Amino acid sequence: METIETDVVIVGGGPAGCSCALYTSRADLKTVILDKNPAVGALAITHQIANYPGVPTDISGDELLKLMRDQAIQYGTDYRRAQVFGIDVTGEWKTVFTPEGTFKARALVVASGAMGRPASFKGEAEFLGRGVSYCATCDGAFYKNREVAVVGINKEAIEEAQVLTKFASTVHWITSSDPKDDDQHAKALISQSNVKHWSRTRLMQIQGNEAGVEGITLKNRSQEESQSLSVEGVFVYMSGSKPITDFLGDQIALKEDGGVLVDDFMSTTSEGVWAIGDIRNTPFKQAVVAASDGCIAAMAIDRFLNSRKSIRVDWVHS
Ligand SMILES: Cc1cc2nc3c(=O)[nH]c(=O)nc-3n(C[C@H](O)[C@H](O)[C@H](O)COP(=O)(O)OP(=O)(O)OC[C@H]3O[C@@H](n4cnc5c(N)ncnc54)[C@H](O)[C@@H]3O)c2cc1C
Repeated sequence: METIETDVVIVGGGPAGCSCALYTSRADLKTVILDKNPAVGALAITHQIANYPGVPTDISGDELLKLMRDQAIQYGTDYRRAQVFGIDVTGEWKTVFTPEGTFKARALVVASGAMGRPASFKGEAEFLGRGVSYCATCDGAFYKNREVAVVGINKEAIEEAQVLTKFASTVHWITSSDPKDDDQHAKALISQSNVKHWSRTRLMQIQGNEAGVEGITLKNRSQEESQSLSVEGVFVYMSGSKPITDFLGDQIALKEDGGVLVDDFMSTTSEGVWAIGDIRNTPFKQAVVAASDGCIAAMAIDRFLNSRKSIRVDWVHS
């Protein structure tokens, strides 16, 4: 697998990550953004954003995010689709692990937002890493010719279920409601020969033994009785409102509310690591606030990497 060395790695390509990348790229720092899915962050799912300064009030969050992403790329940012599942920040070089490769950077920025959720299905926490997963691209190959379940109806769930169809004998897709009539991605998924769709159905429990997941219990809304299904993997894609910090392990200090602890320069307690945007669990979760965090971190990173005594503002070009 490839190992890529760079100046700055940013985990998350939302408004926080893209703004940070814009500034670090313009400061001539080699910058990589790693984003698991540009369609699932908080800004990406915002239907209309009328309060971002300087843009038309009828713009969608997805359109605004694309503008931000393109602007960063235009200044040299290397934008990649990849889900980060772990980091190692012990040395001078910060290491970021993804299924697509390993990234080593002199500065690491975490900007993965707050669309996460605590494990809430019975058995989810118990079997996490032993059959329960949040990343089909990371773990799909373990389930060659096996039966798996995918839980959730959002874009991420559909895309990840498509990944699993390449490996699993059967992908049981469990959704608590019906997909929208015009959802072409859902239609394409359901049309796969190895997909069985369980619509209007709730996951009640994940069960197993020491070796891992053995099955799940489901309940259809219109039926009295629940039913059991034998599966060896359960992939959960439900959105919530909790900072996404699972990939940090216990290497970065968090606040009591679960957000990453930072100082005025967005530096975390680990030197060379910054945290920006909703991952800080700020009381005011707004796109403009996330973008501002990105700018602050980028200027602090420029000072850190170039041993500057003061912050160099972006608009001084003498
Ligand atoms: C429904 C809704 C409506 C909103 N409306 C408004 C509004 O009108 N105006 C406003 O200003 N704000 C609004 N907000 C808030 C605003 O969208 C957020 O404050 C802002 O998007 C936070 O930016 P962020 O970059 O921190 O996180 P996000 O926008 O959530 O981006 C995080 C990114 O990280 C990626 N990611 C997560 N985990 C990983 C991983 N392990 N590896 C790689 N990538 C990862 C995700 O794919 C995502 O692209 C709204 C939020 C929601 C949920």
